[in-house]
Amino acid sequence: MKRTILILTIVLLMVFAGCTNKESESGKYITINGDVEGISVQVDLSDISHEDVTINDTTYKGVRLSKVLQKVSLLAPVEKSYLMITARDGVSALIDAETASLCHVVEEEGVFNMKAPEHPRVIGIKDVLEITVVAHEDVEVSDDHALKIVDEEGDRRISFGNCKLLMFEKSGESRQNGNLAVKYVKKAPLKAEDFIGDDFVLYFDNYDMLKVDRDYAGSFVWENGRIYYETDERHDSPVTGIVSGVDTVIFDAFDMMKILLDKNEKVMFILPDGLSYEQVEYYKDNLTILSGNYKKAASVNPAISNVALAAIITGQSPFVTGITKREVKAPNVKDIFEYAASKGKTAAYVEGNSVLVVTSEKPKLNVVDSEGYTDKGVFETAMYELGKHPDLIFIHFHGIDDANHEYSPLSEEARQKIFEIEGYIKELVKNFFGHVIIVPDHGAVAIEDADGTTRGKHNLFKYGDMYVPFYYFERGSLIEE
Ligand SMILES: [Zn+2]
Repeated sequence: MKRTILILTIVLLMVFAGCTNKESESGKYITINGDVEGISVQVDLSDISHEDVTINDTTYKGVRLSKVLQKVSLLAPVEKSYLMITARDGVSALIDAETASLCHVVEEEGVFNMKAPEHPRVIGIKDVLEITVVAHEDVEVSDDHALKIVDEEGDRRISFGNCKLLMFEKSGESRQNGNLAVKYVKKAPLKAEDFIGDDFVLYFDNYDMLKVDRDYAGSFVWENGRIYYETDERHDSPVTGIVSGVDTVIFDAFDMMKILLDKNEKVMFILPDGLSYEQVEYYKDNLTILSGNYKKAASVNPAISNVALAAIITGQSPFVTGITKREVKAPNVKDIFEYAASKGKTAAYVEGNSVLVVTSEKPKLNVVDSEGYTDKGVFETAMYELGKHPDLIFIHFHGIDDANHEYSPLSEEARQKIFEIEGYIKELVKNFFGHVIIVPDHGAVAIEDADGTTRGKHNLFKYGDMYVPFYYFERGSLIEE
């Protein structure tokens, strides 16, 4: 651990010194990236004993690549890892990590060259930029080490090492002494359209988000262990996830509310916490008001209540709101209540039993009932507030999320909760004349606990929690007078 911190400190110092070429500083650091702990690690070769390696009667002093690997933690066992040795010009060779002891890193005139007499000649990469560890495709790495993708098919993960392979092209394969080497060259940048089937939302490491129309999409590039997105400009935070096949994102609700208020229309926003797109599709035939008038929307990352709520009430990504984890504070930007007030509009905000985000309009809180739910209280308070005819009413029902957590999203209990809350929503809509927007904060994923019980979870970046229904209708279009 101390070593990692030390290395990181050195790297940071060098970055801040404006030094991009580590070799010129000391000539000792080599970059190991991809499927390793820390994603990109600088290994100091002066710490490692040098050995003789002879090629064509010339003897060099070098460091065995297997000894370099001992300085990092591979995510996969060595027999399930490849090493991709990449030159500064992109030419690369891929070998089994198990054969690393047959390769030597030799420093010559300030650059690193690979000497591997037992391997095919292609391994003799000159001016090595980096050595990328690539886990075999069947190895599961943690979500922190993979590009997370959610699409209509479900969800998948591509380890950062394997992401690099997407951006390179195989150009040959050779074998010597039983050692395999695959030659790769850099492809043209990976176009989003070759990779993603629909419009999509990008999630960046700094919690920013970007909605992308597939027809006008840019491309992905791999750099030092991470994936970046490029259009005319380069987004400087790496991409951590992609959700495709969505019409919108949950915080688009903000602009809708704003536009409607500007038109002097009344708006009712209902947030059924935890209601997933999957649940609505599953129960559709038996739902009424919630069976239609919805699109597919993407939640935020992390898909948790306060982060999503802050995004919805401000129309901004977690990067902009500054609310990126479970903590109660005010967003960095104005919320919809402040906007309404600035236009001389009246607003009411009905919450569960606690404050999730510090808002400009104080929420009306409600107590839990004997079963631990606040929904009946929230409904009654909302009905009371509706009697005052506010221009904007914002109502947060928590029961579906609670039932999802406790019993799992497709459980009988969750089903009952969805129908109960749909009943409240119908009653509210009946007593309201205006525009109705219903958007959950996130969905839920059924996960089996250690005790064998299936429960519901979110903040997993999966189909279940990232896809939610986004409803919009006018009261008159649904309820008979
Ligand atoms: Zn929630």
